[in-house]
Amino acid sequence: MDYKKLADILFPDITKSISYYEETAFPKRDLSEGAKVTRLAPSPTGFIHLGNLYGAFVDERLAHQSKGVFMLRIEDTDDKRKVEGAIKAIISSLEYFDLKFDEGASIDGAVGNYGPYFQSNRGEIYQTVAKYLVEVGRAYPCFCTEEELGEIRERQVSVNVNTGYYGKWARDRELSLEDIEKHLKNNISFVIRLKSRGNQEDTFEISDAIRGCLSLPANYQDVVILKANGIPTYHFAHVVDDHLMRITHVVRGEEWLSTLPIHFELFRTLGWELPVYCHTAHLMKIDNGVKRKLSKRKDPELGLEYYMKLGYHPEAVREYLLTILNSNFEEWRNESPDSDIDNFQFTLNKMSNSGALFDLNKLNDISQNVLVKIPVKEIYDFLLRWAKDYKREIVDSLIDYKDAVLKMLSIGRDSDKPRKDLIYCQQIFEHISYFFDDYFKVVDKYPENIEDAEARKLLKAYLETYNHGDDQSQWFDKIRVIATENGYAAKPKEFKKNPQMYKGHVGDVSVVIRIAIVGRSSSPDIWELQQIMGEKKVRERVQSLI
Ligand code: GLU
Repeated sequence: MDYKKLADILFPDITKSISYYEETAFPKRDLSEGAKVTRLAPSPTGFIHLGNLYGAFVDERLAHQSKGVFMLRIEDTDDKRKVEGAIKAIISSLEYFDLKFDEGASIDGAVGNYGPYFQSNRGEIYQTVAKYLVEVGRAYPCFCTEEELGEIRERQVSVNVNTGYYGKWARDRELSLEDIEKHLKNNISFVIRLKSRGNQEDTFEISDAIRGCLSLPANYQDVVILKANGIPTYHFAHVVDDHLMRITHVVRGEEWLSTLPIHFELFRTLGWELPVYCHTAHLMKIDNGVKRKLSKRKDPELGLEYYMKLGYHPEAVREYLLTILNSNFEEWRNESPDSDIDNFQFTLNKMSNSGALFDLNKLNDISQNVLVKIPVKEIYDFLLRWAKDYKREIVDSLIDYKDAVLKMLSIGRDSDKPRKDLIYCQQIFEHISYFFDDYFKVVDKYPENIEDAEARKLLKAYLETYNHGDDQSQWFDKIRVIATENGYAAKPKEFKKNPQMYKGHVGDVSVVIRIAIVGRSSSPDIWELQQIMGEKKVRERVQSLI
């Protein structure tokens, strides 16, 4: 068979060669020794998830820790999965989480010399490589229809052999040039398949940077590399792009392990050096005591939108993801509580290969610890930015009452044991919402030992003695007086000693006042809150419950 002729017949418009791309268009990158080049390669399916972000942090760390390059490539070859607006959503989510790409797709075009960065614009490149494979007899056109493939499959099932397109079952593997030309003349559509040299018994070894040395079954299927519309399959695009974009480390989910043999054979067939593969573990959660994969259907927290809508701070998410990415991160953080997170040396071999456990409660804990270190002014700016995107109705209030908001967020943060009230924007707003009359609600109940009438009496006494100019201790002394005058112990300790002598203790009286002022039984310091709210609001709130 004259493969050269076949290649020219199949790809008459392709005039470039692989060496043109390798030597002229995309030469080896000029980077220092050991610099890693990584890529995030999402498909614009409209759903960007935590797994993408988890992998993206690995990519980002590997690249930036080694003074390499981190790239964004959009894998948009599958028209059926494409969703309107998805690319914009991907890019803005990644921006939200503060991922800094050095190269690749961006909202206003592309940055870098190894593009196009949208696979849909790389058709000529894939065709050039496919043409080469046909030329050297390692790829061929297959004219089988879906129906014919189904028949082959049925026969395979009936004689109990592996299904698929391989060996003697690969009907078009050895078609003559005349037959091919005849089919082409008749406009029969065709795909291009790899002519595999693998056998079913073969295995090969490959080293995965997260999983160590793997022994896998070799590929023996004549997989499709170009679909009938000339668009590459994932397998082919991955190999071609990661080679020509000079990617050194391919970080992707473990769902790709099963097709790694195909990628291995393609790299070998093309004589190209393999990238270092890093197959990350699935994200898991504990659900009713059982560990299971996070699922798009059941777990809203899998989607990145979830964190953006609630307004998690990117630093908190980053800090949390590093705790599940590297088993030694928490120890490092305990030893270096104030160190910049980028000083942590991220390593692939400290990654879990059996499923990374994701836990929202833990994220919230970490977020509290992270936010307590971020200056209040920055938290305010972040809150305002979030509100502009996700809670427009509070933007004016946040702007009009900026000083009060800053003061409320600051309460109790300067002590040795600072308050860690703040977790994410939605919660932060709820936390301070009592300040705003439109959002103020009495949500908690008075202590059990205090009836409504009794509460009214205590609040009346409070209002009568309230002096907005009192300092904190004068203010609290007055509450003690109200307590004792009404039959409550001045100290909880006294009450504990002789409970039969009192209706309760000063703490109960404080709760009644707290509920009147902020609507809840727990909150930051009430005296400080009253100073921020101003006398008028304090009096109105108390009066409304009398
Ligand atoms: N487009 C693939 C996906 O979204 C990328 C896999 C890879 O990183 O190679 O799953």
